[in-house]
Amino acid sequence: MRTHPIVVVGGGVIGLLTARELALAGHEIRLFEQGRLGREASWAAGGILSPLHPWRYPDPVTHLAKASMAAYPALCESLARATGIDPEWTPSGLMRLGEDEGAEARRWAERFAVPIEARSLADICPNRGIDGAGLWMPAVAQVRSPRLLRALEAELRALKVAIHEEAEVVGITRERTRLTGIVVKGETVAASHVVVCGGAWTRGLLERYGLALPVRPMRGQMIVIQTPAGFLKPMILKAARYLVPRRDGAVLVGSTMESVGFVKETTEAAREDLIGAAHDLCPELAAYPVTHQWAGLRPSSPEGVPFIGEHPEIRGLIVNTGHFRNGIVLAPASARLAADLVLERDGAFDPAPYRLDRRLESAQDTPVLK
Ligand SMILES: Cc1cc2nc3c(=O)[nH]c(=O)nc-3n(C[C@H](O)[C@H](O)[C@H](O)COP(=O)(O)OP(=O)(O)OC[C@H]3O[C@@H](n4cnc5c(N)ncnc54)[C@H](O)[C@@H]3O)c2cc1C
Repeated sequence: MRTHPIVVVGGGVIGLLTARELALAGHEIRLFEQGRLGREASWAAGGILSPLHPWRYPDPVTHLAKASMAAYPALCESLARATGIDPEWTPSGLMRLGEDEGAEARRWAERFAVPIEARSLADICPNRGIDGAGLWMPAVAQVRSPRLLRALEAELRALKVAIHEEAEVVGITRERTRLTGIVVKGETVAASHVVVCGGAWTRGLLERYGLALPVRPMRGQMIVIQTPAGFLKPMILKAARYLVPRRDGAVLVGSTMESVGFVKETTEAAREDLIGAAHDLCPELAAYPVTHQWAGLRPSSPEGVPFIGEHPEIRGLIVNTGHFRNGIVLAPASARLAADLVLERDGAFDPAPYRLDRRLESAQDTPVLK
């Protein structure tokens, strides 16, 4: 019998879905967020439900991505029904221009049974005057990240999860090797388990407890070009730039990758770069205005493989972070794995590749236990 609640630290997509998973299993949950829920990397995301160039990632990323992609339609439907907020799961498909990695992509697609075919853009997206050919991934869907976050928040409140905003967790408490709680606003809150889902800020919290995870902030900027609804249907990717058309005609253009620490400001240079990329991908976009620009801090990790596991020396302290460019798509499966670890359930995923103390290729990136 659990006498204290489970605490989740961080109110991004990873923390919210982890809290949901644990609450649905019948446990008392308290969630602490240092700012406001869902306003950091998860809010900034394009919401593409697949890694870009998925064959470039190690298998542990594909395993979580595939499971999450399969879970998303029912998750969004259930959230929309329960809360009235529709995350707009949309199977728009992703066209990747450029043939250079065709053979590798096809081998990957066959291995993981993911549909990929060589197509011309004019075929997929007629009447827009765009040409070029590439790999068409019809099964890739998208969600509107801010709506997903709002729906998750509403559902957690309905599930009676205690949500504390403007509440930075500054430490944990323990008795020898067993976690006993957290420290927040100068007080100790008792907990049976703590799941740290702190995104790019996770390392700062855990370093004091002997765990230096190689998770660092990586800024990403995006802009929005407002077109009429139905202007563009598929998502289009070329090299590092992509277009994500929403149902209402907003076309998101992403995204930069900048190692600038915890600086979240947008820049004029990125705006110009993204406008140029958008016009190159679809010249007709030049007729429409740029209406928004924003930035978010991705929690980067070596090869993009998240860290999901228990602290090697502190029982009851679990981490779920480091989803880098793929936190939205990896979130449902990552939350499931984290909940399995907390509840000591047998689950669908082998936890080994995500362990906090795993060896990494570069010694500099291997987590340091001090
Ligand atoms: C421009 C951009 C585009 C992206 N596009 C996509 C995409 O198309 N598809 C995709 O899958 N992914 C995408 N991503 C990546 C994705 O956004 C991230 O991987 C994901 O949001 C990480 O989620 P998170 O919950 O770990 O982090 P966050 O959303 O940053 O949440 C972490 C939360 O923890 C809180 N916190 C931290 N420390 C503490 C503490 N000590 N106490 C209390 N609270 C704390 C923070 O305030 C924050 O709210 C994109 C990211 C960016 C920036």
